[in-house]
Amino acid sequence: MVHSGPELSTSIQAIKGVGPHMTKVLSKKGIRTLEDALYNLPRAYEDRSRLSSVRELRPGQPGTVLVRVVSQNQRRQGKKNRFEALVTDGTGTLVLNWFFSFPSLKDDFAVGSQHLVYGELKFFKGMLSMNHPDYEPVKEWVGGKPKASVHFGRVVPVYSETEGLKQKTLRRLMGEVLKVSLDQVRDPLPEPMRERLQLPSLRESFLSVHFPNLCPKEGEQLPGIKRIIFEEFFVLQLGLGLRKQRLREHVAPVLEDAESGLNTYLDILPFSLTGDQMKVLESLVEDLKKPRATARLVQGDVGSGKTVVAFGAAVIAAASGFQTALMAPTEILAQQHFRSAVDFLEPLGIRCGLLTHGSEEKKQVIKALANGELDVVVGTHALFQEAVHFSRLGLVIFDEQHRFGVEQRQQLIQKGKAGVPHVLMMTATPIPRTLSLTLYGDLDVSLIREKPPGRKPVKTRVLREAQRSQIYDAIRMRLDRGQQVYIIYPLVEASEKLELKSATEMFERLSNEIFPEVPCALLHGRMKPEEKDQILRDFKRGAQRILVATTVIEVGIDVPNATLMVIEHAERLGLSQLHQLRGRVGRGTEESECLLVSGNFINPRLRIMTKTEDGFIIAEEDLKIRGPGEFLGTRQSGLPGFRVGHPLRDFDLLEKARDESERILSDDPKLKKAPHQKIRELVHSRWKDKLDRLSNG
Ligand code: ADP
Ligand code: MG
Repeated sequence: MVHSGPELSTSIQAIKGVGPHMTKVLSKKGIRTLEDALYNLPRAYEDRSRLSSVRELRPGQPGTVLVRVVSQNQRRQGKKNRFEALVTDGTGTLVLNWFFSFPSLKDDFAVGSQHLVYGELKFFKGMLSMNHPDYEPVKEWVGGKPKASVHFGRVVPVYSETEGLKQKTLRRLMGEVLKVSLDQVRDPLPEPMRERLQLPSLRESFLSVHFPNLCPKEGEQLPGIKRIIFEEFFVLQLGLGLRKQRLREHVAPVLEDAESGLNTYLDILPFSLTGDQMKVLESLVEDLKKPRATARLVQGDVGSGKTVVAFGAAVIAAASGFQTALMAPTEILAQQHFRSAVDFLEPLGIRCGLLTHGSEEKKQVIKALANGELDVVVGTHALFQEAVHFSRLGLVIFDEQHRFGVEQRQQLIQKGKAGVPHVLMMTATPIPRTLSLTLYGDLDVSLIREKPPGRKPVKTRVLREAQRSQIYDAIRMRLDRGQQVYIIYPLVEASEKLELKSATEMFERLSNEIFPEVPCALLHGRMKPEEKDQILRDFKRGAQRILVATTVIEVGIDVPNATLMVIEHAERLGLSQLHQLRGRVGRGTEESECLLVSGNFINPRLRIMTKTEDGFIIAEEDLKIRGPGEFLGTRQSGLPGFRVGHPLRDFDLLEKARDESERILSDDPKLKKAPHQKIRELVHSRWKDKLDRLSNG
């Protein structure tokens, strides 16, 4: 077959009527090529397939009428030119209004000319009218009816608005794009799969999605849309699948616990592991003894006991003669982990070191790591330094993995001389299963949902600004009992400076007027890391009783004596973030409380916080409210984005795509077979170099 049309990668400028200006406007919308344009799907449709008479239309109802111009009238009103045309179709008369006239209207609506007009009928001052209707002069007739065009006599697409482009222009453009490029559209989905899933071809899909024969009902998706979303998810899942494969092609050291150090470790622990913890540990035992690199993510709320499990993996590594690096995002967390490591691991003869920018014995630790005199090193970004070498790195653990860039993680992984180390990642940010599939599809994921026994629930209340005195009473009560208090003051990026000012003011009022006798500290993101660490350390040892902080406090600090958290402007934060913050309290033996302060109106979504402490339930709720884009923030940036699909709304398609991707990769792991060539090309062109990375996670 000979294809005469332009390639789909051709610039949109090749389309008739698209000049340099329009090219620029379109590129702002991400439309640069013909292919981009094809994927720019309508956001809605207008059914203009049926012609109505003026008499049968009801005010408030949109419709298409065929009318003849009776008279026209242009006049100035203030600074604007108004244009009116009186038209009729024989069953009724109506006025077409333009509040801002443009020159061609006068000529277009010459008396006696005939037009198709689409708009919403109004009844105003005793007259039927339409304001700024869409219209088209009738030029050709077919069988006594106006000939169908891009704009009339059919279901027409409505695209998302683009500055400076009218719907009409976009529609005409899309009509042209389809005309010249449909023949070049090749379907990347293997035929048998498409048949099995009963999905239309890509060509059919584009045509029917841009100019459908029937208007989809509210909330209904056209088969063509489903097809396009499926493809998007399929490409994503294949990319994740290929990445997963590549990760596992790396030879990693076999870590086996021949000396049964793990049993000793479990004996030494002052508690027994929960069922969930045990399950994760068992998976890790299986992972580590394979000669393939592990890439496992453990998700669990703060305090669910992830670190204790991760140490178990370090014990296995040490028993096999390999080193473990545990990376923490902040100095204070590194110190915390180091102390636990000393408590739990040194009794087993495992030699532990701490390496942070601030640590005093930096040189000795670096030397000991290179000599193999240390088995476990806990550190911060300092571990990435070039000077840091390991004699036998076998396992890398990232705590709060999303706090590290993909490149940073790669840097550390490359320090393994004896092959690629196994990688274990931990996160206290629960990601709903719906998103887990798209974000972590290349990782093995374990969940710890169960809390260690004896944890007291954190009592949570939502309070209004007017109940301020209750808040102070609650603080005072805690202080009287010798306990400590967090007060969180969230900053809003848009007005960060102003907000920081109000956080500072609040701190000053608290420390000078309300609790003048109580030592208070202020912590915010503009401070130097050393300064922040110092403040947190002081708070931890009890030198400060109240800590007023912006949301920088989020990650894993453990102060068991802090039993009350007040979150100001709680309505500004996402539920997941509130949940994270709340995790700072309830860590000791005392009953803890969290107060969410929310303006003068209580935001109903905050209620869920008073009902559950299960991070996964809260995350699901948060995702429903905010949608995946906002929920994920920048975290998704490492994945090819979704143009059409929505992982939540289209979850069934996402799951199908995952199943199909697994099926195809198990039959043809590298997508080398001829029927898979097109899909392979598509996956590579969408993913580019991202395929070689360790997960975005
Ligand atoms: P995470 O890293 O998930 O925040 P940690 O591993 O730091 O949690 O554990 C939080 C606290 O709970 C630590 O003091 C730890 O010793 C303790 N802990 C962990 N697992 C258990 C358990 N099964 N039973 C009792 N306490 C536990
Ligand atoms: Mg932790």
